[in-house]
Amino acid sequence: MVHKHILLVTSPSQGAINPALQLANQLIRMGVKVTIVTCVSAHRCMAKTTMTPEGLTFVFFSDGYDDGFKFGHGDFEHFISELNDRGSKKLAQLITASAEEGNPVTGLVYTMLQTWVAKVAQSFHIPSTLLWTQPATLFHLYFYYFSGYGDIIRSITNDPSCLVELPVLPQLSSRDLPSFLVHSNPDSDSKPCKDLLLAIKEQLHTLNEEANPRILVNTFDALEPEVLRAIEKLNLIAIGPLVPYAFLDRKHPSNSSFGADLFQKSRDYLEWLDSKLESSVVYVSFGSMAILSKRQVEEIARGLLGSHRPFLWVIRATENGEKEEDELSCREELDQLGMIVPWCSQVEVLSHPSLGCFVSHCGWNSSLECLMFGVPMVCFPQLFDQPTNAKLIEDVFKTGVRVTMNEDGIVEGEEIQRCIEVVMGGGEKGKEMNKNAKKWRDLAKEAAKEGGSMDMNLRAFVDEVEKDFI
Ligand code: UDP
Repeated sequence: MVHKHILLVTSPSQGAINPALQLANQLIRMGVKVTIVTCVSAHRCMAKTTMTPEGLTFVFFSDGYDDGFKFGHGDFEHFISELNDRGSKKLAQLITASAEEGNPVTGLVYTMLQTWVAKVAQSFHIPSTLLWTQPATLFHLYFYYFSGYGDIIRSITNDPSCLVELPVLPQLSSRDLPSFLVHSNPDSDSKPCKDLLLAIKEQLHTLNEEANPRILVNTFDALEPEVLRAIEKLNLIAIGPLVPYAFLDRKHPSNSSFGADLFQKSRDYLEWLDSKLESSVVYVSFGSMAILSKRQVEEIARGLLGSHRPFLWVIRATENGEKEEDELSCREELDQLGMIVPWCSQVEVLSHPSLGCFVSHCGWNSSLECLMFGVPMVCFPQLFDQPTNAKLIEDVFKTGVRVTMNEDGIVEGEEIQRCIEVVMGGGEKGKEMNKNAKKWRDLAKEAAKEGGSMDMNLRAFVDEVEKDFI
């Protein structure tokens, strides 16, 4: 009998690697051998911290951007074509070598925008499956965009008062749409956004051409039930929440979160959190990619000081290693009230009893982690899918409040302070959000336990892939 062996090809961003690692972990639990294939740029940083469970192997290849590609700062078309070319060769080599070693690859799973993987899979007659690392709602939005609703969606991008109503999705205004969808309209000259949209179009086209397209989505059945079932010809399978909850063990932190960290972190913040009252701390982080203007960072500082609550704030060092927090005008006052760190183990922070609210950019991993740990949010979206995620959190899951920008595109300190008060101040709205957050936490735990929807859906998927391979 052939042993199940899945190659999991992931882009090197933190937002893709984290769910890919959790998926690998679940598959290994089900007796599948997993090889994670990713680019050298991820290797540099993952090697520092990642623990490798038995049955998991890593393979790194060079996509020609070993220091990492920065969206908006380089030629996206060139990056995709290099990745395509070099990745395809590497993958073909790996598949051949695995077969020769008596350990044939029985399935391929790949994260977004890596359609080259599906093409290599086809040439070897191996089933391939997309791992969608955003909510199912976003998948639908793109699907509609490229299947007849594009004009309607584009028509609202220039008028914030217009709403678009699409089947099974919440009503959306331009501020709820993914940033590159807004900026890729014909009047915009944003080439990176247009390139990204084209890459999504190709992704959908590839799926449409497959005989039995399956998409693994990092969500759970109870969270987006209608959306998951809405596109008949594409099989969206909820295999989330892919959050390292099962490994959380605060007494033995080295075993706690099997995951990767693209950035160095310190650990003294855990002791600091231990010293705080239950539900009293504001956690602030904008994920691994978003870059805020200096003025915006100052406004956040003002908002935190104004709220008079202890805070833990992640400010990543800049590209050249500069610490932005050192330049903050009110650094001393900030240090008296809270703690600024360059990176942290976010799941450990979110699961800490002292956590009261998360001021977040609403990356999908961060959003799911909040749902998993029952933490209400102040939604402060920046780019990509984040505005749509914020819409879901505020109006569908009802676990957060979204900040409003001023005319200069800045969220002022007073507005940040107001939103923190809404969530943590004890008013009716905040109580409701906290209650909803606990409800989603219970449903997420239910989905993630053995025999829950994540377990069942993933097992069914593994069985199907096996049949397809035979
Ligand atoms: N993260 C972390 N420590 C930090 C900030 C972020 O471990 O200080 C993790 C977070 O738990 C999440 C991922 O990095 O799993 C960020 O992914 P997300 O989709 O939220 O945002 P992105 O970085 O892709 O914008």
